[in-house]
Amino acid sequence: VKKVIFFMIDSFMPDVLEKCLKEGKVPALAFFMKKGMYWNECTTVFPTMTASVDCSLITGEYPDKHKIPALIWYSPEEKRIINYINGGLPLLPMGITNCAKNVLCALNDEHLSKEVKTIFETLEDQGRTSGSINLIAHRSYHKYKLKLPFLLRLATRFTPFNDVTGPEIFTMGSLVRSKLNPPLPWSWDESLFRYYGLNDAFAVRFLTHLIRYQILPDFTMVYLPENDHQVHLHPERACEILAKVDTHLQKFLNQFSSWDEAVEQYLFILTGDHGQTTIGKSENHNIDLEGLLTGMQIATYGDKTIGKNDLVIANNERMTYIYPMKPHADDEVIARCKKEPRIDLIAWKESDWVHVCSGKLPGMCRFRRGGEIRDIYGADWAVEGDLQLLDLSLESEGQTVRFGEFPDVFSRLYGALYSQDIPFVVLTAAPGYEFKSAYAPTHLGGGSHGSIHIKDSTIPLIISGGNDHLPAFKEPRLVDLKGYILQVLCN
Ligand SMILES: [Zn+2]
Repeated sequence: VKKVIFFMIDSFMPDVLEKCLKEGKVPALAFFMKKGMYWNECTTVFPTMTASVDCSLITGEYPDKHKIPALIWYSPEEKRIINYINGGLPLLPMGITNCAKNVLCALNDEHLSKEVKTIFETLEDQGRTSGSINLIAHRSYHKYKLKLPFLLRLATRFTPFNDVTGPEIFTMGSLVRSKLNPPLPWSWDESLFRYYGLNDAFAVRFLTHLIRYQILPDFTMVYLPENDHQVHLHPERACEILAKVDTHLQKFLNQFSSWDEAVEQYLFILTGDHGQTTIGKSENHNIDLEGLLTGMQIATYGDKTIGKNDLVIANNERMTYIYPMKPHADDEVIARCKKEPRIDLIAWKESDWVHVCSGKLPGMCRFRRGGEIRDIYGADWAVEGDLQLLDLSLESEGQTVRFGEFPDVFSRLYGALYSQDIPFVVLTAAPGYEFKSAYAPTHLGGGSHGSIHIKDSTIPLIISGGNDHLPAFKEPRLVDLKGYILQVLCN
């Protein structure tokens, strides 16, 4: 059995990849594509934010099962807004200690549902080894102590952190690391100025070390974050930015006697977590939620009175969760959003029905699990009302549903709405727009994501070096990759 190496490139987009290919800017990616299969329309998870997507990747489930609603969400148990770190702004009122604890410990060992198994856990159950390099979702059976650098300990006022769990081979930069034999020598890519190793160069250097000393596990996840950071700022330079990621992949391939040898020895999967949508330059491309909901009391980060207000806003760039704290506060939110044409979808649940309306189009529709209509992934649904709201078309005498602007919209909206069992409203922004609220980062003239729209939801998928194991995906989804990897490694 060939070992599997998985490169997760943050904000990797098919149109950017194809433009780079034409211009000859990404020789390593072009090589992987030539030696394997390529899909330009793989559908990712909603909300299209790294935290919820990565948890789906490692569990093979949508958020209704794995219970990580998004990057930012409200926990009624803890009575606070949870943030797995999005930019620097929320760090001020929330405190760096909370953010660091959320992302390093709580995401994996408190919030991620114990009802689901991660790919690292399943592989170990099957007697296989696995590794995770810098992916924020890494729960498994091995416990590790955090080794926070002095400045970070100072910033977090020396509060003790719990142990974190991960697979046998595990690293989050230099913050936590499994014992390696031989150990990885220190380099500048682990310094404070390079985010303690949470960068592309470190991730690829770590992987190269595993291969050089023949300690590579059966399955290794490698997370490359820098594409996302750069494209947020300069979507017009997306090609150059992806070309830079490619230089790291070239460096990786160059350690083999030939590039061909790499794909002869290993099976490679390369994909992204979500796309990005370019946001207009003028101020009105930020949908100001406090303005839209003026007169209502809104809780923000670090608010001591949270829960006593009318609403809590959890802003995830091009999607938002709005939690009513008082009866009927959600009705008022829906009524106001319906009059806002920059809002694409407005969705909420009533018992087992998901209700949808829009700020752009009139009408209503609702759907639930179990019914006469089957989607292209084999799930059954009942649907009523105005189908154009979700851009649905019915085929085969109304028995099959096809998705349009909102890929896999039934399962994905359902996944977000049932990620928590409290009432809330889901909002998504129309293309070109994003939500603005206190402390949330905004990107006028830049790139942003989070919504269920096809532009944020479509990622490229490359599977290379696996001629004996090519998958039969027609319409691949990120949630289907766990099953494929297990089939390759455990059959
Ligand atoms: Zn991003």
